[in-house]
Amino acid sequence: MPEMNLASLRSAFNGRVLESADDGYNQARQIWNASVNKHPRLIAQCSGVADVIAAINFGRENELLAAIRGGGHNVGGRALCDDGLVIDLSRMRSVHVDAVNQTVRVQGGATLGDLDRETHVFGLAVPSGIVPKTGIAGLTLGGGVGWLLRKYGMSIDNLLSCQVVTAGGTVLTASDASENADLFWALRGGGGNFGAVTSFEFRAHQVHAVLGGLVLYPRSTAVDVIRRFRDFMQSAPDELTAYAALLHGSDGTPLVGVIACYCGEVAEGERVVRPLRTFGSPVMDAIQPMPFPVMQSLLGPSFPDGNQNYWKSTLQRELTDDAITAIVEHGNRMRSPLSCLVLEYYGGAASRVPKDATAFPHRDLPWDILFLAQWTDAAETTHRDWARSGEEMLRPFSSNAHLLSALDVEGEDVINTAWGANLPRLAAIKKKYDPTNFFRVNQNIKPV
Ligand SMILES: Cc1cc2nc3c(=O)[nH]c(=O)nc-3n(C[C@H](O)[C@H](O)[C@H](O)COP(=O)(O)OP(=O)(O)OC[C@H]3O[C@@H](n4cnc5c(N)ncnc54)[C@H](O)[C@@H]3O)c2cc1C
Repeated sequence: MPEMNLASLRSAFNGRVLESADDGYNQARQIWNASVNKHPRLIAQCSGVADVIAAINFGRENELLAAIRGGGHNVGGRALCDDGLVIDLSRMRSVHVDAVNQTVRVQGGATLGDLDRETHVFGLAVPSGIVPKTGIAGLTLGGGVGWLLRKYGMSIDNLLSCQVVTAGGTVLTASDASENADLFWALRGGGGNFGAVTSFEFRAHQVHAVLGGLVLYPRSTAVDVIRRFRDFMQSAPDELTAYAALLHGSDGTPLVGVIACYCGEVAEGERVVRPLRTFGSPVMDAIQPMPFPVMQSLLGPSFPDGNQNYWKSTLQRELTDDAITAIVEHGNRMRSPLSCLVLEYYGGAASRVPKDATAFPHRDLPWDILFLAQWTDAAETTHRDWARSGEEMLRPFSSNAHLLSALDVEGEDVINTAWGANLPRLAAIKKKYDPTNFFRVNQNIKPV
């Protein structure tokens, strides 16, 4: 790379541009998943939209492979690339709440924790995910599922507009109204394929305190607990979102748990969640009223920075008795006490959005089964095999479809199953906004 070019980038830049010899380079290439060990040629730590434009123009003019980093939580490590340029938005974290209109403007490097902290001041919340350090950008562009999903939909269902810097270095606004509506459709589930999103505008909802928390039962009762959980959730009110999980206690005891969040009146919630607390004799019942940001942070300690992680998941239309038996048997083969197997149930408002209204097509597949392998010894590989074989084991039961944000692998088959019938339209929009496929360190949609 000619020295002159780098000097010109640095002079046009307000944030920092890091090379491997620079202080802070090694820290800047760390992301949540310690299994990822990539060495970018340049890390452009942007301070605002002008820096994002400068970085994209520099990457394009110098034909660099370019990755976009938001919160750095993509399990497959797509926030980084070897040898290329990282357009790093993780310092762009401001959140502005318009309490009168109940809207929120969030910069492209903000985390869920940043968002919840500001909205809670006004008694508001935006549907997002369930771990506070996750980036709002990657999560939203992949769909975004979390505790408010059944009442208020996915994150993309609450998105009002995006500010985007395209591969050509142009700043666009995308919204449903009149501005680049095709791009706005694609951004709602199409991932990081279409440009660097410098800010998101969301609709917020009045959510202050919720009734939520975890109930744990002995693992020996797992088949029965999960069957009851399945039956219960089919007729649960939209205010309740709940997931079941096979996990371990802090002393290594195998357990089965249900974690719930009820976002309506607390007294009514107590009545609604009662069955979840009586699937047997709980070894722990910690469901209680709490501020929404506390609910949002409950699972943070279970997914710390710096562990090895490998995740697989699959969406299903239904959860049969046979599938539950197979899932529990596989869960019992989990060898790392840090791993878990989660059964997420969606439905509710998220399922009432038409399949082609946004790029995310799987509105009719309410079950997501996630094999979340987590361990500490980098030399160990058996935990990856556990997650991989779990997803393979479920194929006879599954719909062979995936939630984009949970994918850990690439491949044409997976790209097709992430977008289904929406893929041709996405490919055409990709061609319009990124004809050279500049943004390709992602679950890539080829421009057609
Ligand atoms: C512990 C943990 C918990 C999770 N929980 C949930 C959950 O509850 N619900 C859920 O839906 N998902 C969840 N996820 C999945 C998560 O949404 C995805 O991993 C997502 O990619 C993370 O976004 P990020 O900005 O942190 O990612 P990054 O790793 O920074 O980026 C991932 C990709 O997103 C794109 N991208 C990031 N920022 C931008 C931007 N500003 N503009 C354009 N493209 C961008 C790029 O393609 C990039 O490669 C979880 C992941 C983890 C690790």
